[in-house]
Amino acid sequence: MLEDKNTQKTSLAELGEFGLIKHITQYFKVENASTIKGVGDDAAVLDASEKQTLVTTDLLIEGVHFDLSYMPLKHLGYKAVMVNLSDVYAMNGVAEQITVSIAVSNRFPLEAIEELYAGIQLACETYSVDLVGGDTTSSTKGILISVTAIGKVEKDEVVYRDGAKETDLVVVSGDLGAAYLGLQVLEREKEVFKVDPNNQPDLDNYTYLIERQLKPEARKDIAGILKELDVKPTAMIDISDGLSSELFHICTQSKVGCKVYEDKLPLDPQVIATCEEFELDATMVALSGGEDYELLFTVPIAAFDQIKDNPNFSIIGHITAENQGLNLVTRAAQEIELKAQGWNGLKSE
Ligand code: ADP
Ligand code: MG
Repeated sequence: MLEDKNTQKTSLAELGEFGLIKHITQYFKVENASTIKGVGDDAAVLDASEKQTLVTTDLLIEGVHFDLSYMPLKHLGYKAVMVNLSDVYAMNGVAEQITVSIAVSNRFPLEAIEELYAGIQLACETYSVDLVGGDTTSSTKGILISVTAIGKVEKDEVVYRDGAKETDLVVVSGDLGAAYLGLQVLEREKEVFKVDPNNQPDLDNYTYLIERQLKPEARKDIAGILKELDVKPTAMIDISDGLSSELFHICTQSKVGCKVYEDKLPLDPQVIATCEEFELDATMVALSGGEDYELLFTVPIAAFDQIKDNPNFSIIGHITAENQGLNLVTRAAQEIELKAQGWNGLKSE
């Protein structure tokens, strides 16, 4: 986990907008040759090159997308970058720049913004992306952060959501459901803390789950691994809202159906153990829990041998004709229709 040491308090008004921007961006270094001009002018200048440009944005609002009572600001900064990089990687591209816009109320001291930017900087360094701009403004209440990521992809390597074909294999990277369970654990601890602030939570059994919720990693490595294996996905999407919901996007846009197998869903042992403890169905959690930031993709059946023994991947099913719909084959060999329910749906149950 990232450390959050926020003891001093300097008011943002003391610095002013320009002082603040200068202060928070001073330690960022430019790494990519395509960044001609970063922070400091009216606009950033990027080298367009022969490749295609990918652009993606996410907006995160306090109280809607995150809760600062268990999401430290450094983690928030890191995660805000990850959710955007994940979208670039889901196009089979390489992320090279980000812009970051923030609106903060005067309830936040400078040290809080420093923490936020420490997380953003760690993400930039780890993933080799340059912070090239943004905007800074005040809000009447809470904090809002919007990140835009810019990436590149060779024309013949871009992968859309709409290319899945009948008989293709359905593949996911990593494992599913841990980030959602991490949120459940953190919410439970928050309630316990409200009742008894002296209670020291014992989170040893949930380290992986909490890490997946508070410090997700985008799958920068997958494009390279697939290239090495000489496999090009026919369709790809990142798992932000839950497997079911992402399968719906791929199947709807590709005009196909799919069959996925309950016993093939990749689950970490901590997910299985914690589902038992919380009396949740692990399959439901894997299908509907969001924020895993793994990649879901389809490959031609001819790629079976390259994919099947790779520890990064699980083949969870295959693509069918559109009129077959989307189905889950249970451990008891029953077929049930999948619902396009994201993690918000799961939450309101
Ligand atoms: P302008 O008035 O032209 O919008 P600003 O004073 O807002 O310029 O920004 C000055 C420079 O600092 C620009 O390069 C801008 O992209 C960058 N910048 C502003 N806010 C942020 C931020 N929160 N994070 C990173 N860069 C920022
Ligand atoms: Mg501005």
